[in-house]
Amino acid sequence: MAGLKLSVVVPCYNEEEGIHELHQRVTAVCREHVGTDYELVLINDGSKDKTWSIMRELSAVDPNIVAINLSRNHGHQLALSAGLQMTRGERVFILDADLQDPPELLPKMMARMDDGCDVVFGQRVKREGETVFKKASAHFFYRLLDRMVDIDIPTDTGDFRLMSRRAVELLNNMPEHHRFIRGMVSWIGLRQEALPYERAARFAGETKYPLSKMIKFAIDAITGFSVRPLRMASYFGICFGIATLLLLVYVLIHYFTGRSVDGWTSLAVIMLALGSIQLFVAGVMGEYMGRLYMEAKGRPLFIIQEVVSSPEKAPAVSPTEKASHE
Ligand code: UDP
Ligand code: MG
Repeated sequence: MAGLKLSVVVPCYNEEEGIHELHQRVTAVCREHVGTDYELVLINDGSKDKTWSIMRELSAVDPNIVAINLSRNHGHQLALSAGLQMTRGERVFILDADLQDPPELLPKMMARMDDGCDVVFGQRVKREGETVFKKASAHFFYRLLDRMVDIDIPTDTGDFRLMSRRAVELLNNMPEHHRFIRGMVSWIGLRQEALPYERAARFAGETKYPLSKMIKFAIDAITGFSVRPLRMASYFGICFGIATLLLLVYVLIHYFTGRSVDGWTSLAVIMLALGSIQLFVAGVMGEYMGRLYMEAKGRPLFIIQEVVSSPEKAPAVSPTEKASHE
């Protein structure tokens, strides 16, 4: 294993407009602070634009680049997992391709790690250039997560962080498929510290997290770290039990006072309410069961189609990952 000082990992999905700028800024920071003893691991997560061909071009001129092409779009968290598996540096710096998280914070994070931290994560104190909806949903999500999960996941943090080799290895050894990486890192424990920073606007392009991906991400986060939603079935049961008792008293009073009850409306409402609650609860259970099923299959987390890097710096790839060196 080449004892590199640093690996920078960047998952990219349709990021053709920003990659050159990313490359320049990361290279400048790394050259200044670690010399040439680093690698920039770029993962193409099944992009439909020119992202992969740009990565290939860059890797032809820059021996520090390791470009990984996944076989299709696996989603941000799995693309990042694939990148983390390929890293060889003593420390690993995780970035987004859109430069919302400034690579220039590297030296500050390195200094914190010199003091003995295993993880230094960026904590957003301000977010620029994002829609009100994005900011509000992120705010709501982190607070909901905090109430739901049993471990302490810091609020307003993304995957922007510097990790020690030890922390990365621990993370790489977690086999679960529905990955919520920032939560998994919190779960590891060890010494972790926050570095407050202001999140910039995207350098180019649109967000690659539409509402559907955000919902999936939130469900992965909550179900991955909490069984509290399953318990909701019991809470609903208790609430409706109490409501039913009160209704029973009301019905009995009407019965004994001899007034005829034309209860069709209330009956219909009760049936609808009960039906929807039952479906909701069944859905929650199904969510967990589906996850059990998917995990039980034991498929690999991701498939690497191709790895391109300069031959003397090429990372070792295990044969199961179906990679081909060029
Ligand atoms: N990304 C990815 N696969 C996906 C979606 C996103 O690799 O399916 C990458 C994307 O290129 C970026 C990072 O994940 O580097 C974060 O995505 P984005 O910036 O769109 O998310 P946001 O900052 O809007 O939450
Ligand atoms: Mg972004």
